[in-house]
Amino acid sequence: MMQKEIVLFWFRRDLRLDDNAGLYYALKSGYPVLPIFIFDTDILNDLKDKKDKRVAFIHDTLIHLQQQLQQHQSTLYVMHGTPIDSFEKLTTIYNVKAVYTNHDYEPYAKQRDEKIKNKLEEKGISFHSCKDQVIFEKDEVVKDNGEPYTVFTPYSKRWKAALAHFYLKPYLNNRYFSAFIKQESITIPTLQQIGFEKITYDVVAPELDETIVKDYDKNRNYPAIHGTTKLSVHLRFGTVSIRQLVSQALELNETFLNELIWREFYQMILWHFPHVVSGCFKKEYDKIVWRNNEAEFKAWCEGNTGYPIVDAGMRELNATGYMHNRVRMIVASFLTKDLLIDWRWGEAYFAEKLLDYDLAANNGGWQWAAGCGCDAAPYFRVFNPKLQTEKFDPGLQYIRKWVPEFEEFSYTKPIVDHQYAKERCLQAYKLALTK
Ligand code: FAD
Repeated sequence: MMQKEIVLFWFRRDLRLDDNAGLYYALKSGYPVLPIFIFDTDILNDLKDKKDKRVAFIHDTLIHLQQQLQQHQSTLYVMHGTPIDSFEKLTTIYNVKAVYTNHDYEPYAKQRDEKIKNKLEEKGISFHSCKDQVIFEKDEVVKDNGEPYTVFTPYSKRWKAALAHFYLKPYLNNRYFSAFIKQESITIPTLQQIGFEKITYDVVAPELDETIVKDYDKNRNYPAIHGTTKLSVHLRFGTVSIRQLVSQALELNETFLNELIWREFYQMILWHFPHVVSGCFKKEYDKIVWRNNEAEFKAWCEGNTGYPIVDAGMRELNATGYMHNRVRMIVASFLTKDLLIDWRWGEAYFAEKLLDYDLAANNGGWQWAAGCGCDAAPYFRVFNPKLQTEKFDPGLQYIRKWVPEFEEFSYTKPIVDHQYAKERCLQAYKLALTK
C-alpha cells in the first residue's frame, strides 16, 4: 500500500518551533510535517575536541525540541551521518513530497544544500529554502548601482531605510502545530553515540533582558559589567528569532540595533566576497610577512602573555567558550599586531573555542582587528593593552577575576614590549603595503 505523503522540515541553525520561516511554510504545506536534524559527520569529524560545548548545546536544544513536539504527539527525527546518506534513508522510510529548510549562507552549507536539492529533485522531491536568520540577506541591501556595500555606516543607513518596508511581524507557527506528523517519539542518539562527551556550559536564557539593552550604549564596553546580552549563542543556533530581537531593539536602543546590523553586514560580506574565508578582504594585505612564532602563539592561547587584559580574555574564552567583544578586539589586536601572528591562526583558535562561533562574524572581527578587512581599523591603530585596561576595566575587576595572580611576582613577564612591538608592526605593514 502506498504510504501517506509527508514533508520534512530540516533544522540547522534555526532550532526553535516559534517564528521560524521555513517551518511555517512546511506546516502550511497541507502535508504532515516530520521535523529532522542531522548531526553531520562531515562537520563533526573535523572537531578535534570531543568535549565540544557547541555539540552539547545543540544536543540539549534538540532534547528540548523533542519535549515540545511530544506535547503535540509528534517527534523529532535526529540522525547521525552525512546529509546525503540521511536523506537517502529518510526517503526510503517515508513517502516524502518536499523538504523545507532555512537558508544557510556559509560556503560549505551552500554547496551541501545544492547537492541535496539536486539529489532530491532527481527523486521528484521539491526543496524549499527560506530566509530566516537575517532580516536582509545577500543583495537586499546594496548601493544604488547594485554593488554591495563594503563600509558599515552607509550599509546600516540603507538597512534601516529598507526596514521601513519590511514586514517585521513574527511567523505564527503555533497556529499550525496540528500539522506536525503524529508519530511515536523517536529516540535521540546520545552524545556518546555520536562520538562526543558530556560537558557543561553556561548560557543565558534565550530572551532579551530589556534592562541590559536600555543601557547598552553606556555599558557595552566594560567586560566586568553584564552590559551586553550574551545572546550570540542563541543567534548562532537560532534559539531566538532575529525578527523578534530587531523589533525589541527598535524600541529600546539604537546602538544595540547597530550590533545586530553588523552581524548582517558580515554575513553579506561573506556572501559577496567568499575569498575572505582564506585571504584578506583587502588583497594587498596578503603580502604581510607574519612572524608566526609558535611559542608566543601558545602563550597567547593559554593566557600567559604577561599582559593581564589579554590573558584575562584568553582564560575567559578557554574556561567558558565566551569572550566579551571589547576583549576580543584587544586580544586580536595583540596577536596580529604586537606578536605579528597571522590573523588566520587566531581566527582558527576562536573557531575551535567559541560557543557562538560564526564564520562570518569571526572572520569579519579578525580581519577588522588585523586591519585587512572591509571597513577595518586602520593598520596603524595598534591597541595599547595598558590604556585599554585603564579605559575599560578601570577597577580591574575583570582582570582580577581571570588573572588573580597578576600583581604577584610569580606572574609571567610580558612576552614582548608593547612600544617596540608597535614599531615592528608598523614597519611590517608598511613594507607589505608599499611592495
Ligand atoms: P551583544 O553586544 O549583546 O550584541 C548582540 C548581538 O549582535 C550579538 O549576540 C551578535 O550576534 C551581534 N553582534 C554584536 N557585535 C557584533 C560584531 N562586531 N560583529 C557581528 N555581530 C555582532 N560574534 C559571533 O557571534 N560569533 C563569532 O564567532 C564572533 N567572533 C568574533 C571575533 C572577533 C575577533 C571579534 C572582534 C568579534 C567577534 N564577534 C563574534 C562579535 C562579538 O564579539 C560578539 O557577537 C559578541 O561579543 C557576543 O556577545 P553578546 O551576545 O553579548 O553581544
